[in-house]
Formats: sequence, C-alpha cells, structure tokens
Amino acid sequence: MSTEYIKIKNHINGAWLDESNGQYEPLRNPSTGHVIGEVPLSSPATSREATAAAAAAYPGWSAMPLPKRMDFIFKMHRAMQDNLEMLAQSIAIDQAKHIAEARGEVGRVIEILQMACTIPALIQGDTVQAIANNINGRLIKAPLGVFCGVAPFNFPALVFGWFIPFAIGTGNTFVYKPSTESPLFMQKMMQLLCDTGLPDGVVNIVHGDREVVEAWYEDDNVAGVCLVGSTPTAKAIGEGCGRGGKKTMLLGGAKNFLAAMEDAPMDLLIENILMSGYGSAGQRCLAVSNIAVVPEIYDDFLARLLEASRKITLGDAMDPDIFMGPVISASARKRIHDYIDIGLAEGATLALDGRNPQLPEANRDGYFVGPTVFTDVTPCMRIAQEEIFGPVLNIIKVGCIDGALRMIRNHPLGNGACIFTQNSFYTEKFINEADVGMVGVNVGICAPHPYLPFGGIKGSLVGNNKVQGKDAIDFFTQSKVATIRVVDPRGLAPAAATTTDSSVRSCVAS
Ligand code: NAD
Repeated sequence: MSTEYIKIKNHINGAWLDESNGQYEPLRNPSTGHVIGEVPLSSPATSREATAAAAAAYPGWSAMPLPKRMDFIFKMHRAMQDNLEMLAQSIAIDQAKHIAEARGEVGRVIEILQMACTIPALIQGDTVQAIANNINGRLIKAPLGVFCGVAPFNFPALVFGWFIPFAIGTGNTFVYKPSTESPLFMQKMMQLLCDTGLPDGVVNIVHGDREVVEAWYEDDNVAGVCLVGSTPTAKAIGEGCGRGGKKTMLLGGAKNFLAAMEDAPMDLLIENILMSGYGSAGQRCLAVSNIAVVPEIYDDFLARLLEASRKITLGDAMDPDIFMGPVISASARKRIHDYIDIGLAEGATLALDGRNPQLPEANRDGYFVGPTVFTDVTPCMRIAQEEIFGPVLNIIKVGCIDGALRMIRNHPLGNGACIFTQNSFYTEKFINEADVGMVGVNVGICAPHPYLPFGGIKGSLVGNNKVQGKDAIDFFTQSKVATIRVVDPRGLAPAAATTTDSSVRSCVAS
C-alpha cells in the first residue's frame, strides 16, 4: 500500500466529498506516531445531508427485487475476497492492528457476508391459512428505512460487516460513521462498494465525532441507530435515541474473565491467554483481563505465563515477525499507564511491567505498552473492575470454581468469559452460571461464529438486540401482519357475513 498522504472523505449520495466546514483532525500511524493524513470532523448539517440521501434512496432500494439486491451482497463478498490483502493493510496502517490479525478480521467479515447471503431464507415470513372463513393471516418482515451505524476504533472491518450487509440486504439504506482513529478501511471498502454498481445513497459515510451521531436523534429520516463502542457511549446513544423514538442495537464495553482450573490443559491455556490478552495489544472487547486461578496450579501457571509474556516482541503492526503492535494513541497509552499506577496504589504486585518496552528504532515514537501482569489482585480493585483496554492481565487467586463464578456474577459488565478444564461438571456449571453473553470452554475469550448472535449481557449491552446470526435480521426488519379476506370476484362464493360469523367478527373488531 502506498505511503502517500491520506485524505479521508465523506461519501454521500454516490459522491466523495470534502467536509464543507473545513474541520479536519490529523490521522496518525500508531506504530510510528507519524501523521499520515487527515480525517473530517463533519458537522450536524453534513450528517443530515447523508440521512436525507439515504432516505431518498430508500424507496427504490427497498422495492428492488430481492435477487437483484442480493446480487450486491454476493459482489461485496467477492470484492472482499479479491482485495483481502489491501483491506487488511488499511487496518494495519491507521489502527495498527498486527497484519496477521488484520487479515483475520477481514477474513471474518467475509464469513459474515456468507451469512448475509442467506437473507432470502431468513426474511421469509409466515402464512396462516383460514384463520376465519375466507380469511388468511400473513406475517411479513419488512425493512424500516434509514439505519445509522457508529463504529469503535478497534474493529473497523468487523463492525462494517455486522451492520451494513444485513441492513441493506434486508432493504434498508445506511449512513455509517467510522471512528476518527481508524477511518481508512471504510474509505477503501466504500470504493469497492461503488465498484459493484451499488445505487447512489444506499450506503453513505460521514466521518467525525459525536456531533454526527447526535444529529440523528431528532432526525425524522432515521429509523434506527446501532453502535459498537464503550458502555458510556452506548448509554448516551440509548438515551438520545429513546427521546427520538429510534430503534437501537448498542453493544458496549467489557471486562472478561478466564477461570483456570486444576486440570486445565496448561499449554493450551498459556497460548490462549497470550493471543487473547496481548493480541491487538489488549484492545478487544473479547480480550481476557481477569484470570482466576485455583491454588493447585497457581505457581506453575504464573511462572509459565511470565516466561511466555517476557518473550513477546513489539514493533510495527506491518511487521509479520513481531507479536504485538502499539495501542491506538498517546492518550490510550497514558490511560493504561494511569491504570498501572492505580493498581500499584491499590496494593497489587506488578509482576511484569510493560511501561518501557524494547522497540525497534523506527518505532520509538509509536504508542507501545508491553505485556503487563499484576498479581495479588482482588476483585474489588479498580484494575479488576474497570475496562483498561490494553495488554494488562490481573491474576486473581480463587479457592474453587465458585469463587470464579461469584466474581463474574458480581461484575457489572457481562461480555465474555471462559473456563479451561477437562472436567464436564465444571464445564456444565460454568456454561450455566457464568453471567455473560458469550462463554468459552478451553477456547477464549471466544467470538461466536457469524452464524450465531454476538453480544454481551448486563452493562455490556444496552437494550436486547445483538449483532450477527438471526438476531441481525430481527433488528433490521419489522414484523407487519396482513389479514386478508378473499372475495370471489365472480360472486359465486360470497364471504361469510361479518355480523353472523363470530370468527370473522373477531378479525374485524378486536
Ligand atoms: P467509544 O465509545 O469511545 O467510541 C465509539 C464510537 O462512538 C466512535 O465512533 C465515537 O466517535 C462515538 N462516540 C463517542 N462518544 C459518543 C457520544 N457521547 N455520543 C455519540 N457517539 C459517540 O469507543 P472506542 O474507544 O472507539 O472503542 C473501544 C470501546 O468499544 C471499548 O469499550 C470496547 O470494549 C468497545 N467494543 C465493544 C465491542 C462489543 O462487541 N461489545 C466490540 C468492539 C469494541
């Protein structure tokens, strides 16, 4: 991918546009700290221009025959397969996700698109014949109009996949606001969508901050808003959309637990913790954070975890030979450093300090935090309660599985949790009692496959709607019920009189 200056543009009604208010923010490569381009901070007026374009495109798009509409989803799938490397590099540059993980993220979206290709089967309604004399009932899953979506910085491709194929495949049109910290993927993806011949206005992109989103709350063109982001943002959008009467799907933040039992397969356990805790530099909603370990394996586990953590290499996200890239920004690094100070002040032991990691010369100005491990952590410490969103692991000693489950139950967030064990009693107990939306057994913290819904519970989800699977279809459609009395135009079989037939009367009058 070229290293030329990146000018991010809005895309409204089929046109690439500069932001008319002239406000831009620098776009940086977190691996080097260098400015590599700029991203618009769009105004509420631009945001409403985009929803108006989506509203204008809606009648034609929703009326398009389904096979023709699906053709665009199939073309999107093909375009992503053909451009996987280019798209992965776009994520590795501005979000600085390690290139191998960026390829994995794009690959996951390709699988999501496979799922979206089943929309014709999933939006089929139901018919009940003869609910009264000559009367049939029919349930239709209909689109709603314009949906808007808001993305976090850490999964620019995945969140596109969770929202846009399902929204437009079911007949809606869309306005999308990527994170200002990782806009490049969507610039590339939008061009691929244009190349499929997608009609103007079906998908629109507006870059910027919360002002873009807040403009949607009272916008009559907007039917619903979806977000993947932190819990405070999910609550703020939930409140605004509640006032404006919009449908919402709001996935929030996380603090994920892993329970390591006495019979945990140790190699697998350590390997999973390294991937989950240090992958994406710990900036994942499914990053493991609190690790509950029983006394029988505690010393051995800790020695092996520290030894493996010390071997983690850091460097440019584009370098396939390193394990871990940077965090997203200087302010994210400061937040993580602040949490390390908080942990020390709370009395936890810093068994591995990632504050001054060894780096290649070219990455000295990047935003790096090395693997960090706290021991002697108790569940009520702030480092065990709050989302740090960096490569920091808390090791918590627990007496048995009940101690681990109690911590999970008492935590206000409930995204994911996993257990490492070979014991079927522990397995079933954990699946039943871990108070989270996504549970893993000897895998994790695991992301459900796109054929199944993805999302947490408690404070990790505002409202009920989750992404992926059949849940996505439910969110982007509304049920409409038709009651149809069939009248014989030849007058040979007159419909039963409403006044005398009680089953017909109940259809008319209830
Ligand atoms: P964030 O909440 O700061 O921002 C998310 C998006 O919301 C951005 O596009 C931002 O511009 C916008 N935004 C921020 N404040 C807003 C407000 N008050 N009103 C309207 N819009 C607002 O999150 P982030 O730092 O970009 O991403 C990290 C967070 O996302 C973490 O908490 C992580 O757990 C969460 N996340 C959750 C999932 C999940 O599946 N539950 C997946 C990925 C990330």
